Amino acid sequence: MCNFDRVLIKTFSLNDKYFIDFLLKKISEVLKIDAYYLNNSPLPYDAYDGFRKQFLAEKFLENLILEKSEESEIILGVTSVDLYEPGLNFVFGMASPFYSVAIISTKRLHNLFYALPEDKSLFFERSLKEAIHEIGHTLGLEHCPNPKCVMHFSNSIVDTDKKSYNFCDNCWEKAKDKLCIKV
Ligand SMILES: [Zn+2]
Ligand SMILES: [Zn+2]
Repeated sequence: MCNFDRVLIKTFSLNDKYFIDFLLKKISEVLKIDAYYLNNSPLPYDAYDGFRKQFLAEKFLENLILEKSEESEIILGVTSVDLYEPGLNFVFGMASPFYSVAIISTKRLHNLFYALPEDKSLFFERSLKEAIHEIGHTLGLEHCPNPKCVMHFSNSIVDTDKKSYNFCDNCWEKAKDKLCIKV
């Protein structure tokens, strides 16, 4: 019995149709289920820490849970602001496997963040990897020791660049049981 038949993307203060269309198309290709755009919202007002100049990732998840209307949907939030969790300097993203919602931040996926020339296609690819990784967590997958697998943990952008946006065979076996794949 599968659990999920679609991924919905919700953006937070981010308007880039070309970028979101890319994510939707590729997410649908990798997961073999439908992917749609939901809506764009303002940033959660209570998530900002003025001292850290970062937003608390958990607050975005709370917001995403409220958007869920069907058990069979996975909701992915996308924001360009920097996210953190207590005890960590930053997070690329965060997921709630229980509610099947996840959030990713594109802030640290830009070359510009590392004082390097911006590379749009690299930025798109990194964003896709983080999106699939967090969606993988919503499917109950844990971190994978295979450095090429999308479920490999990224401590830094170097790790992200080493991995692919696909699941390794082991992780795909686990993921596909949860997905209502179109035949
Ligand atoms: Zn992870
Ligand atoms: Zn794997």
